Amino acid sequence: FRASLADDAELMRSIDGELTRQRDQIELIASENIASPAVMAAQGTVLTNKYAEGYPGKRYYGGCEFVDIAEVLAIERACRLFDCTYANVQPHSGAQANQAVFQALLKPGDTILGMSLAAGGHLTHGAAPNQSGKWFHAVQYGVRLQDGRIDMDEVEQLAREHEPKLIIAGGSAYSRIFDFERFRAIADAVGAYLMVDMAHFAGLVAAGVHPSPLPHAHVVTTTTHKTLRGPRGGMVLSNDEALGKKINSAVFPGLQGGPLMHVIAAKAVAFGEALRPDFKDYARQVVVNAQALAETLVAGGLDIVTGGTDNHLMLVDLRPKGLKGNATEDALERTGITCNKNAIPFDPEKPMVTSGVRLGTPAGTTRGFGEEEFREVGRLIVQVLDALAANPEGDAAVEAAVRAEVKALCDRFPIYPAL
Ligand code: PLP
Repeated sequence: FRASLADDAELMRSIDGELTRQRDQIELIASENIASPAVMAAQGTVLTNKYAEGYPGKRYYGGCEFVDIAEVLAIERACRLFDCTYANVQPHSGAQANQAVFQALLKPGDTILGMSLAAGGHLTHGAAPNQSGKWFHAVQYGVRLQDGRIDMDEVEQLAREHEPKLIIAGGSAYSRIFDFERFRAIADAVGAYLMVDMAHFAGLVAAGVHPSPLPHAHVVTTTTHKTLRGPRGGMVLSNDEALGKKINSAVFPGLQGGPLMHVIAAKAVAFGEALRPDFKDYARQVVVNAQALAETLVAGGLDIVTGGTDNHLMLVDLRPKGLKGNATEDALERTGITCNKNAIPFDPEKPMVTSGVRLGTPAGTTRGFGEEEFREVGRLIVQVLDALAANPEGDAAVEAAVRAEVKALCDRFPIYPAL
């Protein structure tokens, strides 16, 4: 790809700069990962040229026999990976997968019940600025003040009171396992559909290190680029063929035009990779690493919302050190550790400030970090934060020393050597 882009020096500044950044920084953004060269290669193929509106065998364009192979493979592999009978691999993103389910099951004005953004839910689960919050009557559940966990009695009470047509379980900053069984019992009690958005933890489900929502939910949505380590994209899964038909119509022609066949091919590659035994080892290590990182941060005087993690992420409460999320994100970035500020439940600070940061282990684990390395990362984070607590400008000497340690760690676990 380098040779074919050589004439575009302006653009190469972006691509080369980003490659160097990814090589030399420790990526702790919980929603990111490091896709394999094969996943990236599939996206750079001739499949990008092809229009294929419709579904395999039933297209609105000629010449689809070869792209059909890729889509059928992606569907078959997704169904094998998640032990389900229906998959739509066309959504361009996680947000569009969710929109497709809404379009299939709801009408504007219907009531939905999802986790609030402030408590760790996702924008598309009914947040006010999102279409899901504007077009539907969105009721939101949160977490308990005392332990940061979802209060299933509150979910049940809200469901009985508002009788939603759809209940959504899933989130972007929740480090515990959702009680899928109880969610389904509540949905059944009020005649609602249950949708689980497993965007964050799908890779853990695929590997069997996290309970699967598929036996419980009517429909499951996901992204393909987080713990699942595929290309950027979305997917809808179910065991209900009749529902699947409605969702197919909602994705196309309901929402999208031509599917991104090169991305669908890359999804097939990623699902193939996730079906291999070594992906189980990877996912197991992601969880062990997250627990090691959380323990190290707690030992260093920080709090973790809910007290720990069952998955790949944690929400760090910075208040014990008197720090804010924005300044912490900046200080860590200066040392080559990338993360995002994140509101903690009941956060007294504004969304652009926050009292927390969200950290995750999927990308670091892909590059080969084990428990020992994540404990080291935890100690480095505590050093930077202690220095920041002592001096709001940050301590240049501490940050320079940590930056050198970060670079050394990255050099020991190189990525993309052939690019
Ligand atoms: N659902 C959840 C739970 C997410 O965390 C995200 C992304 O962060 C999405 C949906 C949306 O995915 P995308 O960014 O691909 O639209």
